Amino acid sequence: MKSETKCIHAGYTPGNGESRMIPIIQSTTFKYDTSEEMGKLFDLEASGYFYTRLQNPTNDHVAAKICALEGGSAAMLTSSGQAASFYSVFNLASCGDHVISSTAIYGGTYNLFAVTMKRMGIEFTFVDPDCSDEELEAAFRENTKCVFGETLANPALTVFDIERFADAAHKHGVPLIVDNTFATPINCRPIEWGADIVTHSTTKYMDGHDATVGGAIIDGGKFDWMAHKDKFPGLTTPDESYHGITYAEKFGLGGAFITKATAQLMRDLGSIPSPMNAYILNLGLESLAVRMERHCSNGLKAAQFLEAHEKVAWVNYPGLPSNKYYERAKKYLPNGTCGVISFGVKGGREAASRFMSNLKVAIIATHVADAHTCVLHPASSTHRQMSDEELLAAGVAPDLVRLSVGIENIDDIIEDLDQALAAV
Ligand SMILES: *Cc1c(COP(=O)(O)O)cnc(C)c1O
Repeated sequence: MKSETKCIHAGYTPGNGESRMIPIIQSTTFKYDTSEEMGKLFDLEASGYFYTRLQNPTNDHVAAKICALEGGSAAMLTSSGQAASFYSVFNLASCGDHVISSTAIYGGTYNLFAVTMKRMGIEFTFVDPDCSDEELEAAFRENTKCVFGETLANPALTVFDIERFADAAHKHGVPLIVDNTFATPINCRPIEWGADIVTHSTTKYMDGHDATVGGAIIDGGKFDWMAHKDKFPGLTTPDESYHGITYAEKFGLGGAFITKATAQLMRDLGSIPSPMNAYILNLGLESLAVRMERHCSNGLKAAQFLEAHEKVAWVNYPGLPSNKYYERAKKYLPNGTCGVISFGVKGGREAASRFMSNLKVAIIATHVADAHTCVLHPASSTHRQMSDEELLAAGVAPDLVRLSVGIENIDDIIEDLDQALAAV
């Protein structure tokens, strides 16, 4: 099946006379005839449902659809994108370990890594996604457990060189994790370029309607944990909390990572989405391919309009030929990048805020990447915990306005931008 068809059909195939839509199994628990049967589930000896904190059928159907879209071997939903980022790294790295991350990542992820996970004893080295080979090489240590980057960084819109970082990670015997939120699997499938694990904030384009916060983790199923046995003891040595099973042996290349993340992290930390939210996410996924097409065509037209406008200082949109990442975007995102544009209004911080308050169609919201056109000033909101130096390192200028172009008629969006700029 092609992506457009997977959006509709993957993950759930109703039997004769069964509901066409994924059923909402809004139940905390599941009934069994004997405690022996349930015991087998607890021991991971049999597969089945027993408590929604670990797994739920509605969630699993939706995870399976996302898994098919990304071309993975296994996937899980989480209650937020933050939980997906955390689980993906914490499933590999513990206290005393080290992780390499691109500097061009979402502000919330940066905070999770640089502050919260640092407090847990995991050290992070942040590297410029366009650093030299020597700098990248120098970042690796004996205790490095994974490399992390974002396909299309939020909000810097840096295009990550997935192949290059995957090669470097593999040379050092560790996997590459890619947050593919902005690109979505419609525009880029990182696993095809060598990434091992893919994460999402499904809150953005996947849900696409400002309706539910959620996340997903997808395993490409190719990384050979057993070939690096000493590096990943959590996957390659017995788990005493499950009677000594070894994930990489019992669940193989395709299943070990997600089974461990479910059996240990979801069990102990519990960031499970409600089945109702998974159902709503699925409604968004059904139209993801057509929405992404419109986001990309609207985004490009809005970016071209802004680039030609006299009151606009600069425009950052990797779909514009003038953009630093244009060629790389053509390689990794040949169908288009996304609907998110960043730009500066001449006159800096103040002019930007006057522009924003004059908008009529576009709304000011701490959100991005959905059907409704919206704008945000990251330096005073999502990224406010970062110093000016950290902001610049993450590719976020203090005067940057982030415009997330929705799926309205482009003429209305451009007219709105035009009148708001005229009022500056
Ligand atoms: C929003 C976002 C996140 C965090 O996701 P939540 O669903 O808000 O927890 C992670 N990565 C990227 C790229 C994002 O845009």
